[in-house]
Amino acid sequence: MVSLNDAVSELAGVGPKRAQALKSLDIENVNDLLTYFPFRYEDLQAKQPAELTDQAKVTLKGTVAAAPVISRFGRRKTRLNFRLLLDEHTIIPVTFFNQPWLKDKLEVGAELAVYGRFDAKRQSLAGMKIIASADGGMGSIYPANKEVRQGTIQKLVESAYATYAPVIVDLIPEPLREQYRLLHRRQMIHDMHFPAGDAAAKAARRTAKFEEFYLFETRLQIVRQQDHTLNGQALAYDLAKLKAFIAALPYELTQAQKRVVNEICFDLKRPVHMNRLLQGDVGSGKTVVAAIAMYAAITAGAQAALMAPTEILAEQHANNLAKLFADFPVNVALLTGATKPAARQTLLPQIANGTVNLIVGTHALIQPEVAYHDLGLAVVDEQHRFGVNQRQALREKGRQPDVLAMTATPIPRTLAITAYGEMDVSVINELPAGRQPIKTTWIRSNQVDATLRQVKAELSSGSQAYVVTPLIEESEAVDMKNAEAIYARFKEEFEPTYKVGLLHGRMKNDEKNAVMDAFKANEFQVLVATTVIEVGVDVPNATVMLIYDADHFGLAQLHQLRGRVGRGQKASACILIADPKNELAVERMTTMTSTNDGFVLSQKDLELRGPGDILGKKQSGVPDFKVGDPVADLNILSVAQQAAKETVATPDWAEQDDNLALAAFLSTTAHQNTTMD
Ligand code: ADP
Ligand code: MG
Repeated sequence: MVSLNDAVSELAGVGPKRAQALKSLDIENVNDLLTYFPFRYEDLQAKQPAELTDQAKVTLKGTVAAAPVISRFGRRKTRLNFRLLLDEHTIIPVTFFNQPWLKDKLEVGAELAVYGRFDAKRQSLAGMKIIASADGGMGSIYPANKEVRQGTIQKLVESAYATYAPVIVDLIPEPLREQYRLLHRRQMIHDMHFPAGDAAAKAARRTAKFEEFYLFETRLQIVRQQDHTLNGQALAYDLAKLKAFIAALPYELTQAQKRVVNEICFDLKRPVHMNRLLQGDVGSGKTVVAAIAMYAAITAGAQAALMAPTEILAEQHANNLAKLFADFPVNVALLTGATKPAARQTLLPQIANGTVNLIVGTHALIQPEVAYHDLGLAVVDEQHRFGVNQRQALREKGRQPDVLAMTATPIPRTLAITAYGEMDVSVINELPAGRQPIKTTWIRSNQVDATLRQVKAELSSGSQAYVVTPLIEESEAVDMKNAEAIYARFKEEFEPTYKVGLLHGRMKNDEKNAVMDAFKANEFQVLVATTVIEVGVDVPNATVMLIYDADHFGLAQLHQLRGRVGRGQKASACILIADPKNELAVERMTTMTSTNDGFVLSQKDLELRGPGDILGKKQSGVPDFKVGDPVADLNILSVAQQAAKETVATPDWAEQDDNLALAAFLSTTAHQNTTMD
C-alpha cells in the first residue's frame, strides 16, 4: 500500500540526486510534495484581442498564419518569428527567443495557443510557451531553485497526485470541516495544484491555510497539555499572608491586576506545571503582579526566582523588591555576572539551603553551580530576550517550577498565537487609575530650541526630564560619544539652575546605579541617557522625555522608552526629534504621535517590520508557514487555534473516529514546526 509518508524516491523519475535536490526545497516525502503549493497561477484562459492590456501575461489562441522564420543574432542566440491569426481581423506577430526547435510545432494552419507577454504598442506577443490545448485552466507556478526546475515540480506533482490521490484522507476532523465549510483534503490538494479557475484556487487556498495553521496549533496545544499534566508542585500558599501583603501596598490593585493575580494563583496551587505569559502595556504594573506571585510561592515554603535580561534591570528589580518586602519575611538576594566572588561564595550556599528565598538575577541564575533548595516559581522578565534553551534551563532548576514569563511591551496577537501558542496568557488590559495619557509630538531637529523652553517650563514646576540620545549604530562607543556631546550641550543650557546627569552603556554597573539612584532622589533634574534606560526604570516624577533621532528606533522600542514617563499623576510629554529619510520612518513617527496603545503599536510594528525584527530573528518562534501568512491571515489563525484547543481538550481525543487520521498524522510528523530554536 502506498502512503503519503513514502519517500519521494519512490516516485518514477526521482533518483538519489533528485531526491537530494528536492530536499533543498524541504520536500522529503510525498506529503511534502503534495503540499508544496504553487505561489501563483498563470491564467491560461485564452483571451480576446480586445481584452488585452500592455505587458499582461496572456494566452492567445489561433492558427499559425505563416511559416516561422528563424534568425540568428549575437553568439548562438536565435529569434523565431511567426504570425498568429486570432480571427479574420487580427494577426499578431509572435517572437520566441532561443527555442528554434519550436519550429516543428508551428506548421501553417495548425491550431494552438501561445502563452506570453503582450506588447500593446507593437501589438505583438513575446512568446513564453506553446500550449497544446487551450481550453483553459490555470498554470501552476511553484517556487523553484537552480537544482529543481519549475517543469520538474509540475511533472512530479502530477504523477504523485495520480498515484496517491486515493490515499489522501481528511486530517481536519469532519465536524470542523463542516463548521468552517472547508474542502475535503483530496479536493483541496487537487485544486491547489490544478484549479479550474480563480474561484476554485481561492477556496482551496482557504482550506490549505486553515489546515496548515490547525496542524501547527494542534501540536502546540498538545505541548501545552503535556505541560498541564506534568507533575508540577502544588504550592499551598497562605492566602491570609498574601492578602496582608496586598493590603500593605501603597495603592489599590487595578481590576485587571486582581484578575491576573487570581489566574496565576489558581495555577500555583494546582499540582500541574504552570507555563504562563503575562502581557500588559508599559506601566500597567506587571512587576507588582510578579511580586505577589513570588510571595505566594514563598508563603508556601518554596523559593522564587526572577530572571532579567540585563544587570541594571536585575539590580533595579532587586532594589524594588527589597523595598516592597521590607516588612515581610522575605530574603532578597541579587546574583549577576558582576557579583563579586566573595559575595557569590556566601550566596550560593544560602540559595542551596533556602535561607535566601527570593533570588533576582541575570543568566547567572541558570549556571550549573547554582543549586536551589526548592524553586517553586521562576519569573522571566522580558521573556523574548531569552532563548528557548535558557527558559528550559530555568525550568530544570528544582522540581519543574511554575514559570511566569513577562513581556515588556504587548505583543501582537499573531505572535501570541504562534510564538507563545503553547503558553497560557494573562493580560493586564488596564492602566492604574489617574494616569494621564502621554502627549507625544514630533519635531524636526531645527525646532529643538523652542522645545527646550518647554522642557524648562516643566522643570520649573518641579518635574524631571529624560533626554534620550541617538542610536546611530550598534556600537556602545559611538552611542557614548553622542551621549557625551548632548550631555555637554544640556549642561551649558540648563546648569546651574538645574543639574544634568549622564547615563550610558559603557559605565560600570555601580556607576549606573549611583546615577539612577541620584536621579530618583531628584539630585539632578535632567538625565541624558542612551537606551540603557529603555526598560524597568521607574521615576514617577519624570514627566518629559526628549528622544533624539527618534526615527532610528523601532516602534516597540520608542513605546518602551516613552513608557518611562507618564508613570505618576502628572501629565507627561514625549517629544520625538527626527528628520526621517523615508516613508516608513515618517509612518513610524506619525503612528507614535497618534496612539499610546501598546497593543496597537505592536500590531503596526509587526506589519511594518515582520515578526523576526520584533522578537529577534532566532527567537521569534514564528515558523515559516507554507501557505498561511500569520499576519495577513490572523483571522484564520485565531479560528484555527481555537479549534485546535477544542480538539485537544476532549479526553481521549486521539482515539475518536473523527480524529484518528489527525492523530496518526501528528504522530508521524512530530518533528515538524514546533521546534522553536
Ligand atoms: P510595567 O508593567 O511596565 O512593568 P511597573 O510594574 O513598572 O509597570 O509599574 C509601573 C508603575 O506603576 C510603578 O511605579 C508601580 O509602582 C505603579 N503601579 C503598579 N500598580 C499600580 C496600581 N494598581 N496603582 C497605582 N500604581 C501602580
Ligand atoms: Mg503549580
